[in-house]
Amino acid sequence: MREDMRRIAIYGKGGIGKSTTTQNLTASLSTMDKHILQIGCDPKADSTRMLMGGKRQRTVLDTLREVGAENVKLEDVMQTGFGGIKCVEAGGPEPGVGCAGRGIITAINLLEENGAYTDDLDFVFYDVLGDVVCGGFAMPMRQGKAKEIYLVASGELMALYAANNIAKAITKFAERGGIRLGGVICNSRNVEKEQELLEAFSNAIGTHLVHFIPRDQIVQRAEINRKTVVEYDPESNQAKEYFKLAKNIIENDDFTIPTPIEYEELEKLMIHYGVME
Ligand code: ADP
Ligand code: MG
Repeated sequence: MREDMRRIAIYGKGGIGKSTTTQNLTASLSTMDKHILQIGCDPKADSTRMLMGGKRQRTVLDTLREVGAENVKLEDVMQTGFGGIKCVEAGGPEPGVGCAGRGIITAINLLEENGAYTDDLDFVFYDVLGDVVCGGFAMPMRQGKAKEIYLVASGELMALYAANNIAKAITKFAERGGIRLGGVICNSRNVEKEQELLEAFSNAIGTHLVHFIPRDQIVQRAEINRKTVVEYDPESNQAKEYFKLAKNIIENDDFTIPTPIEYEELEKLMIHYGVME
């Protein structure tokens, strides 16, 4: 594993747009000659679908259950998608059975043992569900699996609530694991004064807004065509926003130990920006 490989985890509440944003981000980076491994760490297992032309991949955990740990081959669980991006879905337990978080640990270990982290990689991205930051979902940020964390959020209370909780988890591992918060990515829900709110929230938790991604129907159009926006229409305004995000991530040098806020403070922010009465 290369020392200077950037290990990045993208966290945020379910449905906020982590996978959409991550795939468009990695697609953008791939056009800048970067070599990337993207690992979906959400039981939904749809993190890499648009990079794979709509194809659902066999997950690491499904494969593990079918053939046993000794018989899992890298090529069964890792496929190459758009721009040469290596795509993996960790998967999850059967609904109602077992701990999804623990599954992620198992999947990452198996990928390591099977040599997924090759020396040509410039970036590895973990796309992680962040509603609950139980020990398992915090896994990519423990033991230095991921060094940089980005929070995807919007101007809605629950999105910021989740982002703040993830910031709390980062503070727990920052001392020991050397992990840092790289910033907040706003995936817009067209909330009023959303960019100002997200900037204020980012500053309040000791970081900055990396980029503001507008809400745009072209995301759905691209999805119907089983592509990222970057692949579907690289000249579009939305694609340009993803390219800008990629540039900002490449150039980012603001890595901090976050200062999460109290719930009351979050509420005050929302009221100040007119999102809450
Ligand atoms: P998550 O991975 O956080 O669960 P997804 O990336 O799957 O969320 O996003 C949920 C849905 O939101 C997607 O199917 C997509 O259609 C929509 N979406 C995400 N980002 C945008 C955007 N910037 N503009 C319009 N729709 C978006
Ligand atoms: Mg997702």
